[in-house]
Amino acid sequence: MVGINEVNVICTFWKRTTSSMAARFLFLFDFDETLIDENSDNSVVRAAPFQKLPASLSKNHQTRFFLEHSQQILKFLNESGVTEDAIRAAIQQIPACPGGAGLLNFLLARGDFECIIVSDANSYFIETWLRHAGAHKLFTKVFTNPAEFNTNGCLILRPFHSHSCTKCPVNMCKQVILREYVSKREKERGKPFQKVFYIGDGENDICPTLALGQNDTVFPRRGFPMHKIIQDLHKMQPGMYKPSVVPWDRGEDIVDFLKKVLQEK
Ligand SMILES: [Mg+2]
Ligand SMILES: [Zn+2]
Repeated sequence: MVGINEVNVICTFWKRTTSSMAARFLFLFDFDETLIDENSDNSVVRAAPFQKLPASLSKNHQTRFFLEHSQQILKFLNESGVTEDAIRAAIQQIPACPGGAGLLNFLLARGDFECIIVSDANSYFIETWLRHAGAHKLFTKVFTNPAEFNTNGCLILRPFHSHSCTKCPVNMCKQVILREYVSKREKERGKPFQKVFYIGDGENDICPTLALGQNDTVFPRRGFPMHKIIQDLHKMQPGMYKPSVVPWDRGEDIVDFLKKVLQEK
């Protein structure tokens, strides 16, 4: 039997080794149009009769109520006789973003990055895609709207949380998620992350990056809304947007950048 002092020694040693092994960097991923090369709400329509939505659902919807719109699409699919199997197959067929597999393999091969997903899609789409792509091992946590099939076979979405940010969709402010996660993890680790990286494409990816500092890096998908908004912020309020910005077209753009960061030490 191990004495109490020995237990303490073992615990101290264990703590030291695990904290030294802990990832130096935090890497946050968006899902739609970032990890995958499509918007999953559009992809799932492939399972619909004639692969299209009725006119009432295909017109523009309010960004603040995006989740409600997604739910209406799923309800339509269910009422059209689309099964869980057909929805799963449509999600599994979504291609990764260009060079995405290379980026994920690069991150997976190194212990330097703690990777999480922050997405306004839903848990069923994301988990289904990650498992099919073999990418689920990379991500330690997925923050998204919980989703479950009900007894009628309709996928039901629930809001991730409620918040008071007026800029974000009512069901998700990614900045609240980022702040809470970073503060929780820093307490557990006993030290801050050296850098935070954020990769995204959409309007709702701006809010979380406003919480980042000069030492952090944002990867907006080139030519997508997030990139355009950052360019406007730089023009209209110089110095206000703190993190460095590296636009990307392909996963290789990010791998090249991260290789340089890893050499810096
Ligand atoms: Mg997106
Ligand atoms: Zn927000």
